[in-house]
Amino acid sequence: MGRLNGKVALISGAARGQGAHEARLFVAEGASVVIGDVLADEGRALADELGASALFVELDVTSEASWTNAVRAAESRFGRLDILVNNAGILRRATIEESSVEEFDRVIAVNQRGVFLGMKAAVRLMKRTGGSIVNISSTAGMKAAAGHVAYVGSKFAVRGMTKVAAIEFAKYGIRVNSVHPGLIGTDMIRDRFDDAGMAAFTANQLVNRPGTVEDVANLVLFLASDDSAFSTGAEFMCDGGYTV
Ligand code: NAD
Repeated sequence: MGRLNGKVALISGAARGQGAHEARLFVAEGASVVIGDVLADEGRALADELGASALFVELDVTSEASWTNAVRAAESRFGRLDILVNNAGILRRATIEESSVEEFDRVIAVNQRGVFLGMKAAVRLMKRTGGSIVNISSTAGMKAAAGHVAYVGSKFAVRGMTKVAAIEFAKYGIRVNSVHPGLIGTDMIRDRFDDAGMAAFTANQLVNRPGTVEDVANLVLFLASDDSAFSTGAEFMCDGGYTV
């Protein structure tokens, strides 16, 4: 018996990387999954791979109308929504002095406004059944790093908004938690770190290897499932001890 049997999940940014692995794991655990992403080709290919339990919806997390459409699609195809994973995110490296206002605003729009809009749209359907929201923050939501002003700001905000939502949605039986991955070897990181850079980063961890999409997905599954029924408003590290 799967840990998500009969549940319906919407995962943003699920066409590739961590979100795609979460979609695969959720379906393997008995859930139906809506894959929301701006990457239509990759998203459709993943939905085809996963079969009748998956649906791809073109979702731009910065747009309220796009979120409304994604939640409607979940309702009309699967009839309910139990789980939201706010996973979509972008990383831009720039100091305060270097960062343009446009670049700053873009990171905030995807990483922070996107999470706010996702919770705002999903709660309308989720409050019928109760459920679980998992917001993907970062170690950058716990510990600052030079050169990432917008990213760090947005990921601290995700952690704070998670706690607000946990308080506001408790009356609906909806739990809300944040996950804080460390260095995970997805495209987001491979574009920026060579092997030496990865090794230098992981030397600061207690577990000396990069994290994997499986490491994060297993934690997200725990928080999405009833196994974590007593946890809400909390932050969960997945960083090999980097922030200890
Ligand atoms: P990734 O770049 O492989 O995946 C991000 C996904 O988000 C992509 O599919 C992308 O198309 C999608 N996306 C971007 N903008 C979007 C938008 N406007 N609307 C909808 N989808 C959009 O990266 P990943 O590592 O899988 O990242 C997933 C999450 O984990 C992000 O929130 C990221 O900030 C966070 N994170 C990643 C790491 C890491 O080391 N990789 C560490 C900490 C936190």
